[in-house]
Amino acid sequence: MINGVIISGCSGVGKSTVIHKLLDLHPEFFFSVSCTTRAPRAGEVDGVHYTFISHEEFEKRIKDKYFVEWEKVYTDYYGTPKYIMEGIEGQIKVVIFELDTRGALNIKAKFPQFTTIALLPPTIEDLTDRLIRRGSETRESISSRQEYLREELQRLTSFDYAIINADADESAALVERIVLSLNNRIKFYAKHIETLLDSLNTEGM
Ligand code: 5GP
Repeated sequence: MINGVIISGCSGVGKSTVIHKLLDLHPEFFFSVSCTTRAPRAGEVDGVHYTFISHEEFEKRIKDKYFVEWEKVYTDYYGTPKYIMEGIEGQIKVVIFELDTRGALNIKAKFPQFTTIALLPPTIEDLTDRLIRRGSETRESISSRQEYLREELQRLTSFDYAIINADADESAALVERIVLSLNNRIKFYAKHIETLLDSLNTEGM
C-alpha cells in the first residue's frame, strides 16, 4: 500500500516546518525532494530540503521531460522529479509532497488516489506577519499579491483535508493522524471481507 500525501497551502503558511516535524516523528516517511532555482535559505541543505539548481539547468530538465510537474512560483522554478514516482513503485510506503496549490492540483489530477491536505492560516493578518518575519516579503509586496492569494485559497477548497496551522507541533500531529488512518480505508480491506464472507459460507453460519 503506497500512500502519496500532498501537503499544500498559501506561500508562508508554514508547510515545511510542519512537514519536517512530521518527518522527525516518522523518519520512515519519504519526502519528495523538489528541484528549485531559488537560493537556499539559512539552514536549508542541498538534497534534503531541495535540490538547488540554476535556471539554465532547470530549463534543460524541462526540455528533457525530467519533471512529473513543475511550476514557476513568482520568479523561480520548482519541480517534482519523475524518478520519485518510480520510487513509489518500490518499497516506500508513505511519500510526502510539499507543493504550491497549482502543483498540488496537477499531481492530484495525475494520481487521484493521493491524499491532499490544505494548511490554512488562522487569519490573513497572521499569514502576512509570518511572511514579513521570514524576511522574504515586505508588506507592500504582499498587498500587491492579494489576487494571487485569493486564487490559492480557492484552489484549496477542493482538497481532501484541511488543518488550521496555529501551532506547528499540533499541525504535525494532525497530519500524522490523517496519514496513519489512510491504511484503514475500506478499499484495503476488500480481501479480508471476502475471506470473512467465504468462511461464513463454508462454516454454514
Ligand atoms: P519556498 O520558496 O517557500 O520554499 O516555496 C515556494 C512555493 O513552492 C511553496 O508553496 C512550496 O510548497 C512550493 N513548491 C516546493 N516544491 C515544489 C514543487 O516541486 N512543485 C511545485 N509546484 N511547487 C513546489
